Amino acid sequence: MSAEPGQQIRRLRENVARLHAELTRYGLVAWTSGNVSARVPGQNLMVIKPSGVDYDDLAPENMVVCDLDGVPVEGDLAPSSDTAAHAYVYRALPEVGGVVHTHSGYATAWAARGESIPCHLTAQADEFGGEIPIGPFALIGGDDIGKGIVTTLAGHRSPAVLMRNHGVFTIGRDARAAVKAAVMCEDVARTAHLARALGEPLPMAAADVDALYDRYQNAYGQRSPSPASP
Ligand SMILES: [Zn+2]
Repeated sequence: MSAEPGQQIRRLRENVARLHAELTRYGLVAWTSGNVSARVPGQNLMVIKPSGVDYDDLAPENMVVCDLDGVPVEGDLAPSSDTAAHAYVYRALPEVGGVVHTHSGYATAWAARGESIPCHLTAQADEFGGEIPIGPFALIGGDDIGKGIVTTLAGHRSPAVLMRNHGVFTIGRDARAAVKAAVMCEDVARTAHLARALGEPLPMAAADVDALYDRYQNAYGQRSPSPASP
């Protein structure tokens, strides 16, 4: 990014504040739960939601800038209580530019059972390249959630992980991609739940999952670069 640092952070504050509206639009969050963050490219910083602020009141000014140890460096409010997990992911995975966390209902129901979502749908093959994996149980506060996310995602193509007894964490090249993964994770979790409720979903051949993933990731959509905002 060519913008000077102050301008870059201002744009990311706007982008992250606006992306939170997608979590409510798609019904992924209740009350003040859920959060979006973005890495500040080229700096050891991230922009994240403040803790306990109503979604209607989220604005560029009240986003919190933290370093990648989760320590606030800009902003008057305390950052999200999930900041340590986001910071751990940015430290461990340099290619990740955005992180999202929700307790979206259907996906979190799979997490409550400690069950990964097997790939029975072309839409899941497209976006997740296979199963959406289940990560370990971890208490909030230290690095345990972040470690669980990174360790679990390492063996999968999925940008989403279901943390056991907790909820969904997603990653992306930027915050918008991580929000998309959170939306698609809930969509897939819902359909997979309905399919299972009605019977036994049919398996897909691994080669077909690979072919769908490759096509969607490399050839699908418009050829212009992805816009920075929704
Ligand atoms: Zn949570």
